[in-house]
This record gives sequence, C-alpha cells and structure tokens, in this order.
Amino acid sequence: MSSIRILPDRVANQIAAGEVVERPAAVIKELVENSIDAGATRIEIEYRNGGKSYLRVEDDGKGMTQDEALLCLERHATSKIREAEDLDSVLSFGFRGEALPSIASVSRFTLRTRFRESEGGQEIFVNGGKLVRNQACGMPEGTRVEVAQLFNSVPARRKFLKTDGTEAAHICHLARLYALAHPEIAFTLLEGGRTIFKSPACEELPDRVREIFGSGLADCLAPIEAEEDDLSLGGLVAKPGAGRSTRKEMLFFVNKRPVDSKTLSYALIEAYHSFVPRGRYPPAALFLQVPPATVDVNVHPAKRELRFRDEGKIRGFIIRSILNRLQELTGTTSRGTETSDPAEARLPSTRLDPSSLPRVPQADSSKPSSAFPSPPPTGVAPSDGQSEAGEAPRKGKSESERKRVGYRDDPGASWKFLGRPHGDLALFATNAGIVAFHCRAAYERVLFERMEDETSGKTSSNSQALLLPEALEVDAIDSEILATALPELISRGFRLEEFGRNFHRVEACPAWLEPTEAALFIRDYLDSVRETGGGSVTSQIAGEELTRLAVVRGSAAAEAFADGEIVRLAEQLLACRNPLTCPKGRPTYLETPKREWEKRFDRSL
Ligand code: ADP
Ligand code: MG
Repeated sequence: MSSIRILPDRVANQIAAGEVVERPAAVIKELVENSIDAGATRIEIEYRNGGKSYLRVEDDGKGMTQDEALLCLERHATSKIREAEDLDSVLSFGFRGEALPSIASVSRFTLRTRFRESEGGQEIFVNGGKLVRNQACGMPEGTRVEVAQLFNSVPARRKFLKTDGTEAAHICHLARLYALAHPEIAFTLLEGGRTIFKSPACEELPDRVREIFGSGLADCLAPIEAEEDDLSLGGLVAKPGAGRSTRKEMLFFVNKRPVDSKTLSYALIEAYHSFVPRGRYPPAALFLQVPPATVDVNVHPAKRELRFRDEGKIRGFIIRSILNRLQELTGTTSRGTETSDPAEARLPSTRLDPSSLPRVPQADSSKPSSAFPSPPPTGVAPSDGQSEAGEAPRKGKSESERKRVGYRDDPGASWKFLGRPHGDLALFATNAGIVAFHCRAAYERVLFERMEDETSGKTSSNSQALLLPEALEVDAIDSEILATALPELISRGFRLEEFGRNFHRVEACPAWLEPTEAALFIRDYLDSVRETGGGSVTSQIAGEELTRLAVVRGSAAAEAFADGEIVRLAEQLLACRNPLTCPKGRPTYLETPKREWEKRFDRSL
C-alpha cells in the first residue's frame, strides 16, 4: 500500500488555519473582509478575552442562501473567482475560499445568515470542523459569524497566543485600519459589550481619522492627492516636522487593502528625510490605487504583504508625490498669506509639536569660540519662498523685487519685524497672524543649507593649513569611523594623515574653524557620529553629522543678533529649501493665525 495519502479535508483545514488565522485578529480580518465583499454598509465587531474566548462579526450585507451557507464551509468554496486568470482582476478581498472552513475547523463556529430575497435565515453550528447543527432560524438580512474558543482543540496553536491585552490591541488596530479604508461603512467595535469605537458612515477621511485615532493624529496630517499614468495616491500625510517615535502610524492601503509594505514604508521615510527629525517617523494614511494585475497579493497567507511588479516605479511615484506636497505645504506657510480653505489654513508650522521633537545637544558655550563668523551669512537674497527641493541656491535678486521681510512700518513687507522680546525669540506680524521666530534655530538652518551647498560642490570650501599639525589618537572604532568619514572630511577642507596604528595628524582644516580647535572638533565629531550611527556608520551619516556639528558650533558663536541681522536672517530662512525646521527637525518659527487669536479672545480683532 502506498505511504502517500491525501489528507482528509478536516486535517487540511486545520493546517491552513495555522497560516490564515494565526491569531484572533486574523479571524476578525477574514470575517470583516467577507462582510465588505458582501456589500455591507454596517459592520459590528465584538470580542472577549482578546478574542480567544469569543468573537463576533455581524453585517447587513447580501447574506447567503441555505445552500450557499453550507457550501461556504467547504474547502476552496468561493463565489469570487472561477479561473486562475481571474486573479489578475480580482477586486474582492477574498478569493481563496479558505477562511471560513479553516476557522470552523479550529473553533466552535456559528454562522447565521439570511439572503436578501429569502424568507428566513439559516443557522449552522460547527465544532472543531464537525457539522453539529444546520437549521432554519429567524434573522435579519445579512450575516453573523460567532467564533468561540478559538484553537481550544489545537493546544499547540493556543500556546502561541499572547495575553488578552495584546490580542485585543491587535484587534483594535485591525478594526481601525478597515474602518479607515472604508469610511462609507459604519463600524462599531465592542469589547464584551463596551463600545471601543463607533464610527458612522462618513464622507471624509480626516473625519474618520479624528473619530477613530483622535485629533492628536488628525491635526498633524494634511491631505494628499496625486496621479501618474495608471497610479493614483490619496489619503493623508504628516505635516512637515510632525514626527512620531514609532512606525505604528504609518498606514498603507493598496487598492483599499491594508498592507505592510517595505517598498511603501521606505519610500515614505525617504520622502520625509529632511522634514522630520532623524529617528522619528512621519505618520500617514496612504491609499495607493494600482491596476490589480500589477500587484501580487498572493505572496502572504493572510495577504498582509504584497509584491509590486514594478517596485521602482511605485517608489518613485510615492516619493515624488509626497515631496511635491511637502513643498506646497512649506510654501504655503512661508508665504504667510491667508487661505480660504480652513483645512489649508491650519498651517503646518502652527501645528509643530516641539515637545515631540528630540533635543539637540547644546554647544558648550563655556568654551570661548571664535570658530564661526558671527554675523549671519550674507549673499542669499530674498526670494519668493516657492523654491523646489534640490534647486540650486538662489542668486541675489535685484532690490527692486518685492521685499518679503522688513520693519513694521514697511508696507511692502509680508513679514514685519516687531521686536525681540526674549533671548532668541523674535516676533513678526504677517498677513495671516503673528510669527514667533527662533533666531538660533533659523541661523542653524541657513548655515546648514549653505554647508550642504558647499559639499555638493555648488560653492567651494576653503581650507587652511595648521601651523603645527596636531596629533589625534583614536581607538579601533573611531579609526573605522574615520575611514568612512575621511572623504567627507577632505571635501570640507580637512586634511588628515595617518601615522602609525590609530594615530592621525590633523594637517589642515576648513577656513571657518579656528586651527587650534581642529583636533578637538574632530574628536567631538567622532563622538557624535558614534552616538548617532550606533553600530553602522555610513558615509551619509558621517556627512550629515559633520554639517550638524559645524552648525551647532557656528550658532554658539553667534551670540547676539542685531535687529537688522534678524530681518536679514528671516529673509535668508525663507529662501531655504526647508525653512520650517532646524537641521535637527525642531521648528524654526511658529505662526499663530489671527483666527486663533480671535478664538481665544472670543471676539474679532
Ligand atoms: P473567500 O472570501 O476567499 O471567497 P471565504 O471562506 O472567506 O472565502 O468565504 C467563502 C464564501 O462564503 C465567499 O466567497 C462568500 O460567497 C461567502 N461569504 C462568506 N462570508 C460572507 C458574508 N459575510 N456575507 C455574504 N457571503 C459571505
Ligand atoms: Mg474571505
């Protein structure tokens, strides 16, 4: 007798269950997708003990006839595709006909359903894959599935479930994702009868976000819309500067299906490279629409991950679209004009949450430092602020052009300098309201972009030789960092010579650095790269850190700004590629619109 056997369906289902429904949230996902596929306008989800002891998904969709109700529990029974080719055009969530039989094989499973045109409903009860009851029942149109004691009959799987709290958190996250993807459906999530969220059908995505994630998140997002060939992108993206400490709020949907996608998350992070502080993540709810044939959703048992046929095209499209949008958002703010659209009027700068941003190590001000030219740099003339990222530095424009920043009695200025009441805080009046301006942060941004231009070869950097070359002893780790950073250091005007193991000699440094401080600077630099890069230092980190440190040094030297310098500084800031934040991502200025003052005074101004 042959030793190869075909597994009975029940065993096959239990095996499939391990893949498709590895945890209660995954069961809920399958059931909710079925409800959406059935055209539901209302979906209610309930669970107890993190879904382990009980869960229920109920909808008002088209329901099933008596025959269909039985059939849907058969393996590979699906109403959604007929041929393998259909996979290329499938728009429904399900198509494998695997979920219901799998779930029913590892739980106490009750299905109650009533087809739209049927007189009554049908109730089917299956215990551990065995049909126990199949009878008529009273039931409104739609379907209700209840799953009790998930994995009780499969102790090996039950062991893998986490605490009730953790499983519940997975369920909540999942329910939110689906609610977000389908604002047209009313969602309710209950934990043992207690409402966790209830979201009536609504038109607008921002309303949904506010309802289910709270206004904390909603306020730091701005709508985005873009199209290219057969691709389209919609949803919400973080306003510049609004970073979060985890990736949890980077949400992606492809053809309305929530997905985990490395391609998409890397593209998002890359687009925000200089718009959120390093180590923080931009929240977003991005909806990508692609032709079904260009994406393979069949690479993951629960269809959570997917593969794009042309990763590069998708990546480029996402990055371009987001950068364009960020540019718009930045432009809107720096123009400081009043907009009629209230959503737009919530200027990104006013929503920057400084407490969410990391602190910059303060340059040691006890050390006398003549390292940097103290007056703000000159040579960058006023511009209209509508610059493109990556654009060449603006050349000086003629004085006759409209002035952006001026004194309070200057009628042509759109930013009017009012004064400098406290330390680094300066105030400007704009058409839209009042701008609180941080001189040092602005100065750092201006210097940073100047240095960026210098390293990218847009301007040349000057080097000066040290009269007495200074010795620098480094340990093995620093030595490696130095090797990575050397091209960067050389391009900025440093010259280092290795002599003997772990010994270097600093022979030259950039013109902006006091030669006697050159070795000290490199030591500080190595420390900060080490801290930032952790185990892996790349030449990019090396370069950025160098610029950052130089900027912090430079701004420590800029002790006081005279009024005229502040006006010039503001002009230079507004001409920057990214005027909203300092190099570490903290805000450079915050604009409070008149509307906000009126709201606070509770009367018009
Ligand atoms: P798939 O979704 O891959 O087709 P399932 O096992 O999830 O497979 O469901 C099998 C079939 O049962 C579906 O194709 C659909 O016809 C029917 N079905 C499941 N859930 C519902 C529901 N909530 N309302 C109406 N029909 C449903
Ligand atoms: Mg399904």
